[in-house]
Amino acid sequence: MTFENLGLHESILRAVKDSGYETATEVQALAIPAGIAGKDLMVSARTGSGKTAAFILPALSKILASRATQQERVRGKNYGPRVLVLCPTRELAMQVAKAAQTYGRHVPGLKIATVLGGMPYALQIRQLSGPLDILIATPGRLLDHLQSGKCVLDNVEILVLDEADRMLDMGFIDDIKFVADRIPAERQTVMFSATFAGHVGRLAHDLMRDPQRIDV
Ligand code: AMP
Repeated sequence: MTFENLGLHESILRAVKDSGYETATEVQALAIPAGIAGKDLMVSARTGSGKTAAFILPALSKILASRATQQERVRGKNYGPRVLVLCPTRELAMQVAKAAQTYGRHVPGLKIATVLGGMPYALQIRQLSGPLDILIATPGRLLDHLQSGKCVLDNVEILVLDEADRMLDMGFIDDIKFVADRIPAERQTVMFSATFAGHVGRLAHDLMRDPQRIDV
């Protein structure tokens, strides 16, 4: 399947071409059109399947489809991120941030921030106080910033949980619920997990509406 017919914005297609990808992987062919259509998604796809692009490409495309100018956002104090990606580890979060930079290279003024445990607070607080498009975070540190009032999630339209099963194994269930409670209910929620059995399935049920299941 080529990328041309998946509904991606032209600037995003250009970045995909720059990366030298010729065809979409299976998870991309299924998740990109569903993501652009705004569906909640439960996706099982292993690392190496192209799963990062499967959620970042439609998210970037949606950001581009309706984008306030920087001036409008500053005037409206419309600062908070439109996309929030939660990851279990710093390493994974940094890979996601790198992918978002790469695929968003033709999006003018794209603002991506990371909020990760074990890193200094000062830079994170500075990034959170300006306009943002995509925030990529580990749950514990994001919780710190929410509790100290440094981060507002009122503008989040897409919530992505990457490797949800690992986040739950690490004990982040309450943190994830705390975060999700601070995001408007009319959001789109996308969960990636090796399994949706047990507590991951229960979390999916709590966080999503009529999700589409993608299993590759
Ligand atoms: P991931 O499963 O997201 O960790 O991606 C694994 C690797 O596949 C990354 O290095 C991507 O750059 C690469 N990749 C993602 N999508 C494609 C594609 N459609 N064609 C070729 N490589 C890809």
